[in-house]
Amino acid sequence: MRRAIYDREHEAFRSAFREFLDREAVPYVDEWEAAGTPSRDFIVKAGQAGFLGFEFANELGGLGIDDFRYNAIMTEQVVASGIAADTFSMQNDIIVPYLRDLANPEQQRRWIPAFVEGRCVTALGLSEPGAGSDLASISCSARQDGDHLVLNGQKTFITSGATCDIAIVLTRTGERDGRGMTLVVVEAGTPGFERGRPMHKIGRKGQDTAELFFEDCRVPLDQVLGTSVVVNYRRDADAAEQVVREIRRAGGSAMACAAAIDVGAEVARMVERVREELGPVSILVSNAGTASRGRTVADTEAAEFRSLLEVHALGPIALIQSLLTDMRAMPRADIVMISSNTVGNAPAGAAPYTMAKAAMETCVATLAREERSHGIRANIVAPGLVATDMGRRLVKASTGGGSLDDLNATSPFGRVCTPADVAAAVAFLVSADAGYVTGQRLFVDGGGADATVF
Ligand SMILES: Cc1cc2nc3c(=O)[nH]c(=O)nc-3n(C[C@H](O)[C@H](O)[C@H](O)COP(=O)(O)OP(=O)(O)OC[C@H]3O[C@@H](n4cnc5c(N)ncnc54)[C@H](O)[C@@H]3O)c2cc1C
Repeated sequence: MRRAIYDREHEAFRSAFREFLDREAVPYVDEWEAAGTPSRDFIVKAGQAGFLGFEFANELGGLGIDDFRYNAIMTEQVVASGIAADTFSMQNDIIVPYLRDLANPEQQRRWIPAFVEGRCVTALGLSEPGAGSDLASISCSARQDGDHLVLNGQKTFITSGATCDIAIVLTRTGERDGRGMTLVVVEAGTPGFERGRPMHKIGRKGQDTAELFFEDCRVPLDQVLGTSVVVNYRRDADAAEQVVREIRRAGGSAMACAAAIDVGAEVARMVERVREELGPVSILVSNAGTASRGRTVADTEAAEFRSLLEVHALGPIALIQSLLTDMRAMPRADIVMISSNTVGNAPAGAAPYTMAKAAMETCVATLAREERSHGIRANIVAPGLVATDMGRRLVKASTGGGSLDDLNATSPFGRVCTPADVAAAVAFLVSADAGYVTGQRLFVDGGGADATVF
């Protein structure tokens, strides 16, 4: 049957790859089977010929080709040639997405150019003697000790395990099933990282499959793959999820999880939960509270000022303090506070809320200066009126109307901003594009700013 999915360029690629295998692989199959692995010389030549990591961007050494038909052609030709090496499917089909989507820019520059040149063979360590299909039951652990993770455990059946230059290893950083899993990149030669010899198999003899052993193996936190994001919204879980989705979409390098944390809870317990669910955290987005009932300065008691300060400032500050050690160890970390009211935009009748938010903003601005040398950025996103139930209530309180039209009428742009607009602003601030933006207040000014809504 003739297949219509490939075009002329694909077929030209197929010919080039077939010729490459006929010349560089087929004559050496017996040699590789005896050694239990393809030669490194072959892998380097494959890199030089453009057959490794071509999906990566040009500036990282790739060709920027995002077309899985090329990967499929390679699999077909490897099978047709009978060399039974998993190098290409392992590196191009399985490893590339991990490094493309989860590695941060520094990590990408560190590993990807060598990967493309065949100088950084990469293994993926998921399976263990007691955990295959059911990865939630892995037990290889990574305990945090200062700015390192300490790995203990074993992996088995790992393709390229005996010869890899780096291994992406799935570890358990928390206790709960399916949660608290962290991917860590371990480089060959790291003390405490040992591998077994290639296993004897009944087939695929030319490809090494090996065990990996970790004994008090210390890996710097900047080798954690995937960004862990804490999104601390007190009540609005949907908005928190939206922030997570936007960060994923814009950054392309984040493995994000939402954790709606109640800042009223004891901070130590909060942080324990965050560590258990997310491992080391490098992005904290906080919109700690919701607006309080309207209160003028004249009729607000000290206790109410104190309680709002607790929710909007002291809670988030304690959370930041608890995460700072982790964040300092990361090549880059971000703190983003969402704060709509402040000194220059203090509506009448919201004194305790505005005071607390202003206190928090002062702290963020100070943090931005204090933590620059640790690679931590701290910024504020300041939405105008947002199209939420609370936005409607605010408009209703001031104008009597509360429909979306009433809300939109307050906006110079014809519509007030949505939670998605706020999330997009957060995603921008934590993206590589905003790498040098710190200590800033970014307005998402969909409306309300010029309208007296309280
Ligand atoms: C050549 C080779 C290379 C490999 N390379 C790697 C690698 O690079 N990295 C890595 O991490 N691992 C690797 N593996 C391991 C491989 O991914 C595991 O073997 C696989 O995940 C299955 O796990 P298991 O062998 O423990 O089987 P089990 O999980 O014990 O499964 C045994 C059988 O039960 C079935 N089964 C399991 N659970 C269910 C269920 N819930 N419902 C129905 N059926 C079920 C399975 O389909 C299977 O047929 C490799 C394995 C081989 C053979």
